[in-house]
Amino acid sequence: MKAVVYHEFGGVDVLKYEDVPDPEIGDEEVLVRVRATSINHLDLRLRAGKSPRPVKLPHIGGVDIAGDVVKVGSRVTQVKEGTRVVVDPVIRCGKCRFCQIGEQNMCAAPKIVGVNLHGGFADYVKVPAVNVVPIPNGLSYNDASTLPICFVTAWYALIERGNIKPGETVLVHAAGSGTGSAAVQIAKLAGARVIATAGSDEKLARVKELGADETINYNSLDFAAEIKKLTGENGVDLIFDQIGASVWDKNIQSLSAKGRMLLIGVVGGGNVSANIGPLIMRDLSVLGVTVFQAPRRNLVTIVNLAAEGKIRPVIDKIFPLKEAQAAQRVLEDRNQFGKVVLNP
Ligand SMILES: [Zn+2]
Repeated sequence: MKAVVYHEFGGVDVLKYEDVPDPEIGDEEVLVRVRATSINHLDLRLRAGKSPRPVKLPHIGGVDIAGDVVKVGSRVTQVKEGTRVVVDPVIRCGKCRFCQIGEQNMCAAPKIVGVNLHGGFADYVKVPAVNVVPIPNGLSYNDASTLPICFVTAWYALIERGNIKPGETVLVHAAGSGTGSAAVQIAKLAGARVIATAGSDEKLARVKELGADETINYNSLDFAAEIKKLTGENGVDLIFDQIGASVWDKNIQSLSAKGRMLLIGVVGGGNVSANIGPLIMRDLSVLGVTVFQAPRRNLVTIVNLAAEGKIRPVIDKIFPLKEAQAAQRVLEDRNQFGKVVLNP
């Protein structure tokens, strides 16, 4: 089969489109013919050798995968050849103390497709049969391939970790990103008022189309001051933050009493030197969110909501798999709105 492989860490030019052996499935695995696979910033960090997650070289990346089951292992009964599926990329060990007590999402030794194992930037990928979720009719492979990371991150963060409630006010940072655009939609679906930030007016106009009630261009305005104006000095109940250190102080200023901050990423740095007094004085909560610890029910829910048209995957551009270098460059330049998808 053809795959996008890297044999060393580096820039996009280490990505090689080349022939590799087809994966051979075990008794409880399925072989998926990849139809669409979307790119995440995680793929870029892994390729650059900048992720703390261990990658064995040579590596085939690709965590977000949609396709057809074309072969099933001898002990697989729950899924048939020909089924259209999206892949839950987290393979739980089944043996650790969390798996033993039914909390597989907290598995202490998970393997992640596209990270510890070969992923979807290829014609075929193998995964355990329990890791595929059927795609309902009416949902395309391209749309389905945008769901496992971005939408599940946003759903798990806002609904399960953040306990969002109707009528609350939510601040979504970097709303033009794949995860940010998902968060705007899910917060609206939950009945919240959404204030979104992004770095350009063009992106903000599109964020409004997705349902944001108010928008702030963080390059031209002080978002903390704007939040004060927009909330009558009260601040917001919930912050969805993928930026981290560079917005920490202003986030704390922007939270209402009992406010919660969801930390999803650290693209703006991970080290803060902070006065923790306000957290105590105003009953604030800071909640870390890791998509790879989201229970599988999150992906099932998201797939159904997308099929029902209640959430709308946002795709910036679709490339053939062999143009993986150009596709990753789009994400690296941060000019996209929504997801970049590859078609093998
Ligand atoms: Zn485990």
